[in-house]
Amino acid sequence: MILENIKKVRENISASCKKAGRNPEEVTLIAVSKTKPYTDIEEALPSGVLDYGENKVQELTEKYEILPKNIQWHMIGHLQRNKVKYLVGKVKLIHSVDSIRLANQIEAEFGKKNEIANILIEVNIANEESKFGVNANETLDLIKKISLLPHIRIKGLMTIAPYTDNPEKNRQYFSKMKKLSVDIREKNIDNTSMDVLSMGMTGDYQVAIEEGATMVRVGTGIFGERNYNK
Ligand SMILES: *Cc1c(COP(=O)(O)O)cnc(C)c1O
Repeated sequence: MILENIKKVRENISASCKKAGRNPEEVTLIAVSKTKPYTDIEEALPSGVLDYGENKVQELTEKYEILPKNIQWHMIGHLQRNKVKYLVGKVKLIHSVDSIRLANQIEAEFGKKNEIANILIEVNIANEESKFGVNANETLDLIKKISLLPHIRIKGLMTIAPYTDNPEKNRQYFSKMKKLSVDIREKNIDNTSMDVLSMGMTGDYQVAIEEGATMVRVGTGIFGERNYNK
């Protein structure tokens, strides 16, 4: 089932790329394995998908210990400062940096081990009360500050679009994210590349790709519904 789902998602990614005149190789599929057992990832591995997303540090590090070391781990959930130290040397990319305080902590912990942290800035593009992330109009200022930290590389932007059953409603937000990313790239800020645009989940990744996503984070569409009360 998992392998079939991945095949289907990949076909959808290719179709969206074709529609938008993009090369499917520009889009990385991140399989979001949060709440799922590590055996589900083992089941997914023959597909060749090596990028997995988790939203809790403890779950990420537990799976890291058990599973093959060629897996690339993505921290996609809200990150508490006291948990940063457990991620050093284990994550390819932290998607959820939205404050200078968190960035300072990442700098301190990765610096101690002389490691570089690759991060994205999480943007609350629809200004939702309930969401983490920096507002669009504060993003450049935050990036300028973080770019001064020697053990951090800012690779781009991430957003979690509003929950909706009509993905077309999120097109406006994905397009705003793309524009923001282009605007920031033009500033040529040190240690900052804007190569990554992490946006789109099971309900809206196809629209996100049409608007320029380079990473999509798909959970339910690969591993099925999550059960939070077991
Ligand atoms: C859970 C989660 C996803 C995946 O959501 P699905 O709708 O199951 O695809 C993507 N991004 C983040 C940040 C998440 O927490």
